[in-house]
Amino acid sequence: MGIYVIIFHMNYIVFDLEWNQPEGLDSKSRPLPFEIIEIGAVMLNDRFELVSKFNRVIKPQVYSRLNRHIVKMLSLKPGELENGDTFENAAGKFLEWCGDDYIFCTWGNQDLTELQRNMNHYTMAPLSEKPFRYIDVQRLYSIMINDMQQYALETAVDRMKIVKDVQFHRAYSDAYYTSKILKLIPSDIIEGNPAYDVYHLPASKDEEIHVSTATGYTTYSRAFNSKEEILEDQVLLTLWCPVCKGRALKRKINWFNHSGKNYHAAGKCPEHGYVTGLMRIHPGELGGFYAEKITSLASEHDFLKLSEQAKKVPSRK
Ligand SMILES: [Zn+2]
Repeated sequence: MGIYVIIFHMNYIVFDLEWNQPEGLDSKSRPLPFEIIEIGAVMLNDRFELVSKFNRVIKPQVYSRLNRHIVKMLSLKPGELENGDTFENAAGKFLEWCGDDYIFCTWGNQDLTELQRNMNHYTMAPLSEKPFRYIDVQRLYSIMINDMQQYALETAVDRMKIVKDVQFHRAYSDAYYTSKILKLIPSDIIEGNPAYDVYHLPASKDEEIHVSTATGYTTYSRAFNSKEEILEDQVLLTLWCPVCKGRALKRKINWFNHSGKNYHAAGKCPEHGYVTGLMRIHPGELGGFYAEKITSLASEHDFLKLSEQAKKVPSRK
């Protein structure tokens, strides 16, 4: 007779990358916006205890000339990168080290994007074919201190009075400090505010991502061919009450473009009051466009402010 013991083995992989970019060439016209030159990570178990460390220096293959700011910031030793591993080897070893059951944790959302761009450049198998959940420690830190600015890692470390026993701005040390901050974030904040990587967009409407948090309700749409198609999609344009969820609201302020890629709208739930919608249209990493739509409860003051802004721009139908 067997006794079945179920052990929950999910590890937290807190990682950070260092990258190089050529000077004087804008990121859109480069074959690779940022070339990864170092991967550093710590693995924590489900009790947030340090289990293992990872660190690899990578020899640049795309941009051999190092940006002088990067050399200065990383305080690289002469020959350090030249003796590094190839990206394919380093990334392969990293993913092998991660194991099978883990969740990525990073400071901000850029490291996962750059990791996947570099893997794509070398035609490595993708991390995932669809969106996946990760932990954005930078965002959770802002939520914890109730201040939605984006803080630099070192600023957060100072404010949390974490002992600075390792030099900053190397991949391993930044992963180490990010893990120190992660450990201080209450689990309800971690659980209640999941982040999703959408390097691979939802393939269909059914796979679209809907996330409900204390601050609102967010949808990441599938890929559309153009921004115009998004702005004509009646389901995406629908404003839902973030509390009732299933309740579609009549729009008191129709979608308008105030600045840049941000579109705004507002309505009122008979039960929960004013609701504002924010829709950002982003180019997809692998083509097309997608919408990130956030609906939140709002005050009358927020509503009136939006209403003033809406009057200043030509409205959409
Ligand atoms: Zn409601």
